[in-house]
Amino acid sequence: MTDIDVAKEMIAALKSWVDNEVVPHASEFELPDEYPTQMALQMASFGLFGATIPAAYGGLELDNITYARIVEELSRGWMSLAGIINSHLICAKLITRFGSEEQRQRWLPTMATGELRGCFSLSEPDSGSDAGALRCRAERDGNEWIINGTKMWVTNGERAGVVALLARVPDSDGTDSGGITCFIVEKTPGPGNQSGGITVSPKIDKLGYRGVETVEMSYVDHHLGEDQLLGGDEGIGNGLRWALAALELGRINVAARGVGVAQAAYDAALAYAKERQAFGRPISQHQAIAFKLAEMATKLEAARLLTYEAARKADAGERVDLAAGMAKLFASETASELALDAMRIHGGNGYSTEYPVERYYRDAPLMIIGEGTSEIQKLIISRALLAED
Ligand SMILES: Cc1cc2nc3c(=O)[nH]c(=O)nc-3n(C[C@H](O)[C@H](O)[C@H](O)COP(=O)(O)OP(=O)(O)OC[C@H]3O[C@@H](n4cnc5c(N)ncnc54)[C@H](O)[C@@H]3O)c2cc1C
Repeated sequence: MTDIDVAKEMIAALKSWVDNEVVPHASEFELPDEYPTQMALQMASFGLFGATIPAAYGGLELDNITYARIVEELSRGWMSLAGIINSHLICAKLITRFGSEEQRQRWLPTMATGELRGCFSLSEPDSGSDAGALRCRAERDGNEWIINGTKMWVTNGERAGVVALLARVPDSDGTDSGGITCFIVEKTPGPGNQSGGITVSPKIDKLGYRGVETVEMSYVDHHLGEDQLLGGDEGIGNGLRWALAALELGRINVAARGVGVAQAAYDAALAYAKERQAFGRPISQHQAIAFKLAEMATKLEAARLLTYEAARKADAGERVDLAAGMAKLFASETASELALDAMRIHGGNGYSTEYPVERYYRDAPLMIIGEGTSEIQKLIISRALLAED
């Protein structure tokens, strides 16, 4: 079988699992904000925790297009499932691309099976879009690094055993203008106070993107070994550049999530419009609704094509800042628009938790915010366009 056949088979198996096991049960976990342990185990058995990890370290080494299609399928069922693997794989990507061979051997094989979970920690209470303003500090003390600071919005932070942590290394004169650097923190999965000065907050109560935990994490005089500095001394000051490179691929993932949620919203709207009767005929026979469906299908197709094109460019080794920015901007806004359209088509039922469209409506805004808001995507896109002139 060729790689393409393997990918097709994998996506078909995943699609069937999503239809049979995720779609009927997602709300049972989502509404009470319960972690879907069995679903995560099934994802591990599909190999998804190693989806983009190189085969040499036990991963599936999938290309970006296949990974985007997997994320799309998961999100069609329940967007939070894509969140369970996304920041784990961003952490793995940083280790793969910028870690030493010893660091890759140390963490990637157990990350690939899902036995060891990863997360990605850049945001802070006072810095999100303006990531360069982060304040978490890492100071060298002999053969160790000492971490102090507070990190915000750490998705998978409770269950993670490794954290790709971005911290500022002060200059030799002690000032804070020093370079942002990536460290790999090891922690015990679980909530509350950890040994070594790490505290994991209770999970943040969120509008959507429920089931998967997002937490605040603080570090007080937490000690790291030299071997936890990503890429060794060469990594000092390169952390933000490396994180932004990893986030470019993360944006293709978020775009794919947008496509999945938009597909789910469209499918629900189409089915409901054919079934629901008003004024003696199915509401799909009223032109206002039929035109709404036509617009939804067109935007969905455009979002999908932009996302696949960004993934194709990444697979071809081309620059993807412009393509990934456009895909993320358009697909996330499309998911939000289609979720609202689907809710309108459902009338009062769209406002009820008995139908899944209210979940799509709550989940969609996360894609507009996470991994760079729509405004930040417009900055990235316009900068790339202006640089082309
Ligand atoms: C559920 C959830 C999960 C998350 N998971 C993670 C995670 O796992 N790891 C992690 O590191 N982070 C995570 N984040 C953080 C996320 O990446 C940030 O919330 C996002 O980057 C926006 O930052 P902010 O919230 O500080 O908003 P701000 O940066 O304060 O932005 C506020 C508003 O100002 C706008 N704005 C800011 N700067 C400009 C500008 N220059 N021009 C125009 N408009 C601008 C923004 O677009 C936005 O509308 C998560 C967030 C959420 C909500």
